[in-house]
Amino acid sequence: MKRTLLAACAALLTLVAPASHAALRAVACEPEWGALLRELGGDRVAVYVATTALQDPHHIQARPSLIASVRRAGLVVCTGAELEVGWLPILLRQAGNPAVQPGQPGYFEAADAVRMLEVPTRLDRADGDVHPGGNPHIQTDPRNIAAVAGALAARLARVDPANAAFYQARAADFARRWQAAITRWEAAAAPLRGLAVVVHHKAFPYLEDWLGLVEVAQLEPKPGVEPSSGHLAEVLQGLKQHPAKLVLRTPYNDARASEWLAQRAGLVAVMLPNTVGGDDRASDLFGLFDDTIDRLLKAVAQ
Ligand SMILES: [Zn+2]
Repeated sequence: MKRTLLAACAALLTLVAPASHAALRAVACEPEWGALLRELGGDRVAVYVATTALQDPHHIQARPSLIASVRRAGLVVCTGAELEVGWLPILLRQAGNPAVQPGQPGYFEAADAVRMLEVPTRLDRADGDVHPGGNPHIQTDPRNIAAVAGALAARLARVDPANAAFYQARAADFARRWQAAITRWEAAAAPLRGLAVVVHHKAFPYLEDWLGLVEVAQLEPKPGVEPSSGHLAEVLQGLKQHPAKLVLRTPYNDARASEWLAQRAGLVAVMLPNTVGGDDRASDLFGLFDDTIDRLLKAVAQ
């Protein structure tokens, strides 16, 4: 009886071991940064991801389990550039953890490591634009992921110096594999250069910049403002002057507007995974870009 109990305890310990051995608890605001933390942190970082690919990261409820995770965290990793401005300040305040407040080493914004696109020359938040600090959807360009990986590895080493060499070694390994993958993706995506696209939300300027796609219209009249029938009619009319092949949306955009336009203008409606977990193949960062490029290539072949 005693032996059975001991065996059961041992089995239980094995089950919980990975989390309890992790040196650092981290909270990622979005799935792509959770995936990057796993690449760089391995078993030394326990990662809690605040949102899923099916949620619009502009609008999240700070539920109790999320507040509790931030309270225990040694590092919070978010996009920044005002992507989380509607919920992160409240979450950080409610969690009351001084180590992860903005300005502290335990608070990391990915956007600081990349060149921002679509930075407005005039701040005009009043009419509903949710991108007042430039376009925050930086994760759709793998070169941005590489830049963030370098900065994040340095931050991991700073907040958990006992494992600094471990993080730096993993970062170097990730950088090698990532660069090889970028070369492969760029070769595969070469036929997409110059492709004209319509987008539901302005979620893809970094992907367009990377692959040379040309965005001719958006289904939202302003970022964050839902498509209206009047605006969709204007987009349909505009496509006569500037034709496009695809209409792109994220997993959290309602499909109806892009399907309406696709039917009337002869476009192909494409859902791109947008982040890790956006579909079955996008189960990690490598799968995210494998799948994004496959979906684009299949759609243009239709
Ligand atoms: Zn947005």
